[in-house]
Amino acid sequence: MPEALHFIANRWVASDKSPTIPVLDPSDGQPFTKLARGDAADIHHAVSAARSAFEGDWGRLSAAERGRILYQIANTLAQHHEALAQLEARDTGKPLKQARADAAAIVRYFEFYAGAADKLHGESLPYQNGYTVFTLREPHGVTGHIIPWNYPLQIFGRSVAASLAAGNACVVKPAEDACLSLLRVAELAAEAGLPPGALNLVTGYGAEAGAALARHPGIDHLSFTGSPATGTLITQMAAEHHTPVTLELGGKSPQIVFADADFDALVPVVINAIVQNAGQTCSAGSRLLVQRDAYEPLLERLAAAFSVLRVGPASADLDCGPLISARQQQRVWDFLSEAQHDGIPLMAHGEVDPAAPEAGFYQAPTLLRDVPPEHRLAREEVFGPVLAAMPFADESEAVRLANGTLYGLVAGVWTRDGGRQLRMARAVRAGQVFINNYGAGGGVELPFGGMKHSGHGREKGFEALYGFTTLKTIAIRHG
Ligand code: ADP
Repeated sequence: MPEALHFIANRWVASDKSPTIPVLDPSDGQPFTKLARGDAADIHHAVSAARSAFEGDWGRLSAAERGRILYQIANTLAQHHEALAQLEARDTGKPLKQARADAAAIVRYFEFYAGAADKLHGESLPYQNGYTVFTLREPHGVTGHIIPWNYPLQIFGRSVAASLAAGNACVVKPAEDACLSLLRVAELAAEAGLPPGALNLVTGYGAEAGAALARHPGIDHLSFTGSPATGTLITQMAAEHHTPVTLELGGKSPQIVFADADFDALVPVVINAIVQNAGQTCSAGSRLLVQRDAYEPLLERLAAAFSVLRVGPASADLDCGPLISARQQQRVWDFLSEAQHDGIPLMAHGEVDPAAPEAGFYQAPTLLRDVPPEHRLAREEVFGPVLAAMPFADESEAVRLANGTLYGLVAGVWTRDGGRQLRMARAVRAGQVFINNYGAGGGVELPFGGMKHSGHGREKGFEALYGFTTLKTIAIRHG
């Protein structure tokens, strides 16, 4: 794969001006390649290529033909699974087993949406006598996708595969901190038979290439996954052209544990939900709400499990890898020093492997207890492996605490009581509620997205296809 180029209309393309962005390996903090630093001209080039594809070869394909191409992409990505996983692990720092899971997930996204492409349809509607009325689900046209660095393969998969299945042509601005796997995916999609211009990638900084994409008048729909502050900016820019936006903006997702819960089942899941991807997961289970009777025994169990967690380079494939960047590491340190300053007790932490390179961006998984519900640690997204535990008395307090942040992405409820499972599922304001399990970002088939400041619109599952289409009503008067 060549260095510092965009991928537009199935060709590697240099920026007009050719500045570059260094790419650091989070495991050792050293630069190992560079990206093209795209600007408005590169974005314009990509949007024009997408428009030509939409109005040309790609747009003319039937839904079944599009599905067939997406299957070919899935198969090609599956053949390159290990290489994609290795690239993702190096670029993001995530342990190899996690990167392998992500590389498998993107295959699954293309497979799922390949099968869905020709099952998306409108409806016929009862109306006045003498009329026949029906709806058509049509693609928006050119869709823009701004992707974060935490799960490049997965988030690209869920967004781009669904958009292509619906018949759109895509322009992607991946994150400057991690996007090498996506450049390779775009190249492989071209090899698999995707017509030129159906998928275009422009790399660069958010404030340059990202902003140029968000405000480009040729974009018919925008999907963004990232921080709430950037989501606000994107929405404002998109509003200049009334471009519809799907936003997924993170969370402060609670794991709500009642005293009757099955500890053996929940301990590994609760740990994985905060340690996976070093806690840099929008749907990380970052708050632990525990019914008072179970609080001490559960924290003891969790503390023992936290203290044996090991952190190291992606290639060592331990429990946890480094954070993405020095900036992200500093952000987590700031939260932790605030906790210390405010007297929040540190219950347990894992260990960074002494053999891990000094300059890597490491942070040991950390369990904090008795975090006051109004504290920043209980309300704001740390985006690191930090679990904030607090007790609750009863169901109503559990609901109040669970809903007591601005976010509403995912929640986990742990109880054997069937009635309580259903009451909690309804009372918690979150886009996904898991009962006696938790899938941080899991489930290609499951609609995913937020309430409140976690965003709006749904990705994944069949539901995503509705967001990537617009509805046309056709009324025929025939007497
Ligand atoms: P983080 O601060 O953790 O990198 P962001 O939400 O800023 O998270 O980044 C997510 C994605 O949004 C990245 O692809 C980034 O380049 C892009 N981005 C950041 N700022 C802007 C912006 N002002 N306009 C458009 N895209 C942006």
